[in-house]
Amino acid sequence: MRKIIPVFDHSAEPNASRMPTWIRQQLGSKKFTDTAKSVHSNSLNTVCEEASCPNRGECWSHGTATFMLLGDTCTRACGFCNVMTGKPSWFDDEEAQRVANAVHEMGLDYVVLTSVNRDDMKDGGAKVFADTITALRKNKPDIGLELLTPDFNRVQQEAIDIIMSQLNEVKCDSLSTQMVWGHNVETIPDFYKTVRKGSNYERSLKLLELAVQQDGVEAKSAIMMGMGETEEQVTAVLKDLRSVGVQRIAMGQYLRPTRYHLPVKEYVSLEQFERYGEIAKELGFSWAKSGPMVRSSYHAEEEQS
Ligand code: SF4
Repeated sequence: MRKIIPVFDHSAEPNASRMPTWIRQQLGSKKFTDTAKSVHSNSLNTVCEEASCPNRGECWSHGTATFMLLGDTCTRACGFCNVMTGKPSWFDDEEAQRVANAVHEMGLDYVVLTSVNRDDMKDGGAKVFADTITALRKNKPDIGLELLTPDFNRVQQEAIDIIMSQLNEVKCDSLSTQMVWGHNVETIPDFYKTVRKGSNYERSLKLLELAVQQDGVEAKSAIMMGMGETEEQVTAVLKDLRSVGVQRIAMGQYLRPTRYHLPVKEYVSLEQFERYGEIAKELGFSWAKSGPMVRSSYHAEEEQS
């Protein structure tokens, strides 16, 4: 059952109905329909749909999607996220193969996999990520892999061990980066109590730090802007991410999915996004994307920004 949490002071949103002209959604195309068919005929969830991503028209029209493993119900209730919250009962040990089938149909060379939080599972769902990696590499040994995982709560090391042991089994010698391991800090630590209730900034940094230590793994994170953060606070987060070895960063505008979610405090200007991109480069991120429509999986397949 969908649990909707009315959290915030709605009056704080600045002219939400009047979004700046740079916030746009593209309409679909024939390729969009093909992508939808591959996703739906294989009974898969995507974060593109579940989180109402504004880029779905563009990404699906280019034949890409981000698969959301482990069901459509999340055990946490972040104030910005449109994914359903509740007590998941779902488990499907054929999902990995169906993801591989869809990816094969779509002809993808690079795949982003994410999942809901599954704090109810002993391994946080790590085995399902691992099985999906194996199924994908069995179909296409050199496929580019990117995970966007939960923080795995108290089982971080176990989750990493499960995923890495299967990744090492299907290692591709022609790839220098075997996998990008993404985990989004989403916002500045001061906002965690409202924005990422149930999560912990230090725990997120710890997961990224552990991920970076794995052979062939690059770490990635993302921050949503427009929640009232200052440049100084964002810079501090970027420094924290670099200090644990994160190489890739995505920064985009938060858009409120429904009136029950956190209000937008500010539509960050294009100039400010450019400035964040420059700061990230100065701090040594090798891959940095910054712009209103940027999401962690947006144009993820591009080698460099
Ligand atoms: S940005 Fe990511 S989540 Fe959004 S539509 Fe594109 S692939 Fe899907």
